[in-house]
Amino acid sequence: MPKDRPELPPVEELLTAAVTALGGVERPGQVKMAQAVRDAVESEEHLAVQAGTGTGKSLAYLVPAIRHAAEKGQAVVVSTATIALQRQLVDRDLPRLADALEGLLPHRPEFAILKGRRNYLCRHKMADGMPEDEDDQLFDPREVSATGRMVQRIQEWANETETGDRDEIVPGVSDQAWRQFSVTARECLGAQRCPSGADCFAELARERAGEADVVVTNHALLAIDAMEDFAVLPEHDVVVVDEAHELVDRVTSVVTGELSESTVGLAVRRAGRLIEQGVADRLQEAGEDLRALLAVAPPGRVDTLPGSLAMTLALVRDAAFACITALGPRNKDKDDPENAGLRKAAFTALDEVHDTAQRMLDAFGPAAGRDEAGDDAEDGGDSRDSGESRDSAGGANGGPGDARSEEVHRAEVVWLEEGRGRVPPTLRVAPLSVGGMLRDKLFGDRTVVLTSATLALGGSFDSLSRQWGLRAGEWTGLDVGSPFDHPRRGILYVATHLPQPGRDGLPEAYVDEIAELIEAAGGRTLGLFSSMRAAKAATEALRERLDVPLLCQGDDSTSQLVKQFAGDPATCLFGTLSLWQGVDVPGPSLTLVIIDRIPFPRPDDPLASARQRHVAATGGNGFMAVAATHAALLLAQGAGRLLRSMDDRGVVAVLDPRLATARYSGFLLNSLPPFWRTTDPAKVRDALRRLTAGS
Ligand code: SF4
Repeated sequence: MPKDRPELPPVEELLTAAVTALGGVERPGQVKMAQAVRDAVESEEHLAVQAGTGTGKSLAYLVPAIRHAAEKGQAVVVSTATIALQRQLVDRDLPRLADALEGLLPHRPEFAILKGRRNYLCRHKMADGMPEDEDDQLFDPREVSATGRMVQRIQEWANETETGDRDEIVPGVSDQAWRQFSVTARECLGAQRCPSGADCFAELARERAGEADVVVTNHALLAIDAMEDFAVLPEHDVVVVDEAHELVDRVTSVVTGELSESTVGLAVRRAGRLIEQGVADRLQEAGEDLRALLAVAPPGRVDTLPGSLAMTLALVRDAAFACITALGPRNKDKDDPENAGLRKAAFTALDEVHDTAQRMLDAFGPAAGRDEAGDDAEDGGDSRDSGESRDSAGGANGGPGDARSEEVHRAEVVWLEEGRGRVPPTLRVAPLSVGGMLRDKLFGDRTVVLTSATLALGGSFDSLSRQWGLRAGEWTGLDVGSPFDHPRRGILYVATHLPQPGRDGLPEAYVDEIAELIEAAGGRTLGLFSSMRAAKAATEALRERLDVPLLCQGDDSTSQLVKQFAGDPATCLFGTLSLWQGVDVPGPSLTLVIIDRIPFPRPDDPLASARQRHVAATGGNGFMAVAATHAALLLAQGAGRLLRSMDDRGVVAVLDPRLATARYSGFLLNSLPPFWRTTDPAKVRDALRRLTAGS
């Protein structure tokens, strides 16, 4: 990328050229957003922009980003939460934008996509330079053969691929199959030492990124780049975070640690090939203790560290440390180049086990996991069994009074997830907040533009900016609105005559209401349910009553179901979380969005409930800061499925009457697009019949 600093055309001129070349219409919100991004980049002030569907927000940030890259001679990073948006940028928007701007800039804008190392084929592992990590627990011959077929497909693809990017493999392959051909960044030998370093796909992707004006990546890699000591992304001073409403969750996933019999078993298998058997056996035994303990422990948040768990975590930690010591110095690969890959893989797995066990002990304060942990265990005081120290299912709104000061100081939360299929019960640890981390590491030394169709919750950016760790005066917020005429094209109907949703599945009255709405709409319905159980119950009950085709998430791959739904207006699609955000179906196939209940986090969601208690313990309103914010974000995303093009019209029907009656309803309603509102079921059914007749 040339480092010259020419006089470049202003952003407005470049945007006009881009929009004209792409055959679009310039929209005031798009121009406003492009100017705001330019101003933020120039003033080096963080910016949060809410830009509704149809604004053309990708052009609104890509144009000033490309201009800045050309002027500065340095890449701009664009981060997304989903592969779908990554593909849209790299396969559609950026190539067309590069064509459009080529004649106006000193060089044709270049772009590249960069993912985490584990997304690329590792040639060294492929050539058998590292251990196969699969344990011997593939009891089910069908799974063995399915994985075997995927492995064969990967091997065939490996001979042809030019990028080594896993996402090229269609249909996709399982994580289990892919793991046999990929490494994490920590497991990688480093290009200098790796025999395949010169042809390494991950290194080639990095090289291409180093030459680009725009580097498209994901939130996880952005977080790793910001937090690790080594740079993963090319040098940059501007980041655009698209789908920014997902940032906190993605970053939390990156920094969540896990410990189970599987993670310990992996470390044992890797270390066992290189160290004395007795030392590896010690870790194996500690892993078995952990397995036995987790098998009988109740799933959920762990508020007080039971003595038995403290002792087992300390055993696991110390046994992992003994294995690390037995492996010898980390830099002895020169003396033993043949085993370099094996050693690196063993260190990575052992470090992970050791550090996570320590981190879990630390989560309960400095005394946890010291030598006296064993004494505690002998007291027999396992509070997990008594349940005394834990909230009841509804207790997330505030913990017991004597836990208050603990809550104020606690930085991390530990919970046990129950086993599913071949995945054993797993202990996890995550920070209560990633705001401080984001503030120091991400926002500290670069300008960040955060954007999404949904950022202003309850009409304000405050909820999300707090979660990002931004303080007043450090950022500006801008809502450029939407080109859609929401009050004229959409109705928000709240079914206030229905009972409040209960804990015991979908009330009969809800099923009747859904049936009447779908009949009025002639199908054309996306049903967004707060649980898979409710989606399935509604599907079963209504398949008997309605004569329109009803699809339910899980019947086929989600992309296939969405395709079927979009292709036939009479068809309805019911499902849960991924449909709330992932469905983009313009046209008459989607005329009615039904939402069964306000999507609060489950009361037993360990992280959300711990965060809520923490906010309450520090004097804030935990319910509003966590549960209502979560619900507002999802509701806005769900309602946003309705209008996807200028010609769309329809109804968002929320069956949960609390949206109109609860004390927090104003906050939730202010998070939604400004549809015309009603609580009259007859009016809504009439409107749906008219819409259906007119399309
Ligand atoms: S440099 Fe790392 S990722 Fe690349 S081939 Fe070698 S071990 Fe694999």
